[in-house]
Order: sequence, then structure tokens, then C-alpha cells
Amino acid sequence: MCGFYPAARCPAQEWKNRASESNECFDQTWNAGAIFAALPSVRRSPVSDPSELDPASVTVWGGEERYLLDRATQVPVVHSVAFGYPDFDEWYDVATGVAAGHIYGRNTNPTVAVFEEKVRLLEGGEAVTSASTGMAAISNTLHALLRPGDRVVSVKDTYGGTSLLFTEFLPSFGITCDLIDTTDTAAIETAVSQGCDLLYLETPTNPTLKVLDLRRLIAAGHGVKATVVVDNTFATPMNQLPLALGADLVVHSATKFLGGHADALGGVVVGRADLVKKVYQYREINGATLDPMAAYLLLRGMKTLQIRVERQAENAMAVAVFLEAHPKVTRVNYPGLASHPQHEIAASQMTGFGSMLSFAIEGGLDAVKGFLPHLKLAHRAANLGAVETTVGPPATTSHVECTPQEREALGIPEGLVRYSAGIEHVDDLLADLAQALDAV
Ligand code: PLP
Repeated sequence: MCGFYPAARCPAQEWKNRASESNECFDQTWNAGAIFAALPSVRRSPVSDPSELDPASVTVWGGEERYLLDRATQVPVVHSVAFGYPDFDEWYDVATGVAAGHIYGRNTNPTVAVFEEKVRLLEGGEAVTSASTGMAAISNTLHALLRPGDRVVSVKDTYGGTSLLFTEFLPSFGITCDLIDTTDTAAIETAVSQGCDLLYLETPTNPTLKVLDLRRLIAAGHGVKATVVVDNTFATPMNQLPLALGADLVVHSATKFLGGHADALGGVVVGRADLVKKVYQYREINGATLDPMAAYLLLRGMKTLQIRVERQAENAMAVAVFLEAHPKVTRVNYPGLASHPQHEIAASQMTGFGSMLSFAIEGGLDAVKGFLPHLKLAHRAANLGAVETTVGPPATTSHVECTPQEREALGIPEGLVRYSAGIEHVDDLLADLAQALDAV
């Protein structure tokens, strides 16, 4: 038996056996294509093969044409905990994976499936699943794939929440996590060669915008048969495609650029079908399901992903150039600057340098505290990737979960400002920064 029953209704032995059941049976429980093909009232639009489209068109059309009910042009928000089957045989077939369909909202939902499919098409993965937040996507991935005795290699500069999984939570399950200097590719390769079950990468990093050499590191990971997972939140699939570079899985905080409007939390995991299957099975029971309303908001936001990301990257570049030349600014981290230590690597694996930068101003944390209140066109908030420019220091944003000592150990200065460029007019952003720096 396979399907969607809550664990309490699933015979224990059968549940244990699920991992070894056939892909065919499982796939129908989460493969959006299979689900939609079987739904009544389904209309297919002329966009039958999204792989032929430019990504900008996929952001608009991808995954949607399969589920436009009753001539609606927009995907519906399906608020239904369960999906009813008056016919027992049909119910049984869906529940056992013989026929496509939905059974229970913790497992799959039509709106969520459309969101997942759009991300899958953009990242170019075999399979996809989602979760309630980016951290749910990341922690479910790690818990689903790792076992006591396994060894993870990662870098010191992963997102603060991810970093805490490595330093606190996973070790308590008997999993060794070694965090290596992010910029020392040779040291990461050495650590991987000493034995590694999962190599976890994030690039560009949050908040110091370091860039990892994906090609070299993915090759190192695969050299020891490690699973390679890449957090692609900062770059987005419009700027970087880790799966095309060989990674096994991509994870996202969809809360950030994918949604883009700072109004919905979500996470997504895309990549090798056998791995996504494990993550889906764990998340299904862990229960960190993406809500249909959040999925709808993320889906709607994704329609403008390409134009947002393009505009934001242009703004970020102009802001980085402006800040680099400003006498009160002591350091600017942006992969698009020629002065960035890994600029060449970024240029070789990214099609755009993204919208995130960070900078330090003369006077450290006290100066930052004086500077931030003067900004008029920026939310001072623990978020990024939104249409509005958003700023904050690591102590209240990316590394809020860490103590000052932990941030220091991770090499993250307290006096840094993380800047997520919005889609405002660039002249307004530059003028705003100029007056705020003058006021310090
Ligand atoms: N990964 C990165 C790179 C992030 O910046 C964040 C959050 O800022 C996360 C993961 C976690 O995402 P969420 O807040 O959706 O759980």
C-alpha cells in the first residue's frame, strides 16, 4: 500500500516498506503532471512543452495550463483538507497510487502542486516537493537523507538557521558536520575527500555574498559519492542553475525572491527523483506542509520573477558601485563588482549577479545604528528578495539565531548592513543612500 494516509492509519510495517516501493506507485502521489492529467474539467493551453520556452515565459505559464478549471485563467486556491471519492474503487486506486489524484491536504494539494511544478520547470529538475518555509525545506531534506554516523561537509557561511542545524541539531542525532572556510575551495575539497555523505552548499552566501565554485565542489562531492545539495535562494533560477552544473538537489526559501512580495512563507526542493521522494515522504509525516493560500501567493509572485530579478540586479549593481566609491563606506560585498574576490567564479556560473549586497560603514555597529533610521526607501526588516528594498544587520536578520560570539566565529562582522535591492527607480535608491550616509 502506498498513498496519503496519516501515519496513524497506515499499518506500521507497510509504512516501513514504503521506501522500497516502486517509483510508479509513489510518483502518482506527488507528480503534478500525473495528477492534472487525471482531473476532470482540465483544459490544456497551447503551451504544451514549457522546455521550449524562455525562462521568462515559463515564470508566467509554467505548470499552470494543466489546471485551469471552468475556463478560469488563474489557478484556483483549493482550500480542502481532504478530497472526496464517492466511488470506493476510485478512492482505493488513488489512495494506492494506481490512479492519480489527491487524498489528504498534508500530502498534496492542487494549488501547491502547480507552484511546485513551476519551480521544477525553472530549475530543470526531475522532481519537486515543497514545505511550509525555507527552513522546513532544508531541515526536512537533511533529516530525510542523513542517518546516524553520516558526515556532512558544508561551509561556515550558510544561512544562520541552516548553520544551527549543522552546529546543534544534526550532531545530536549522531551526524558529524564539518564547516569549512567558505572561500577555501581546496580545503573544502580535502574535507570532502576524507569522507562525506552529503555536501551542502549555498552561493552566494548570506550575508557576506561569498561565492562558491559550484563546478569544482560538485565534482569533489560526486568523487566520493556524496549527495550535493545547493541553496539557490540568493541567486534564483533566473541567475543560476545548480542542477545543470551537476548538483543533486536545489533548495529554496521561496519566501524570498520566488514569492517576491514578502507576503507568504514557503520552501521548495527540486532535483533527483529518488532523493525528492525521500524528502516528500519525510515532510509528509513531519507535517510541515505548504499552505494552499501561501502556494497561490508564491505562484502569483513568480509570474514576475524574471522582470523583478533583472531590475533588482541592475539596482544592486548601481548601488554597489555607488557605495564602493563612497568615502564613508569601508567595504562592499557584491559578486558583480570586479573587486569581489570570487567575481570570476560568479561570472562563470551565474547569468546575473543577483540583488543582494552587504557593506560596512566607518564606525562599525554604532555608525550602522545611526545610519539605518535615515533611510526612507527601505524596510528595516529581517527579510530579503521583496519588491521593496530591505536592509538590516546580521544580528537582526540572517544570523539573528546566533550569539555575537557565534557570529564572530563565523566571521560575520556586527557592523555590516545587508541590502536587498528592490525594484524602485535606481536614482531614488542612490539619493536615499547618499542622504542617509551624509547624516551619519
Ligand atoms: N536560505 C537562505 C539563503 C535564507 O536567506 C533563508 C532565510 O532568510 C532561508 C534559507 C530560510 O528561509 P525561511 O525564512 O523561508 O525559512
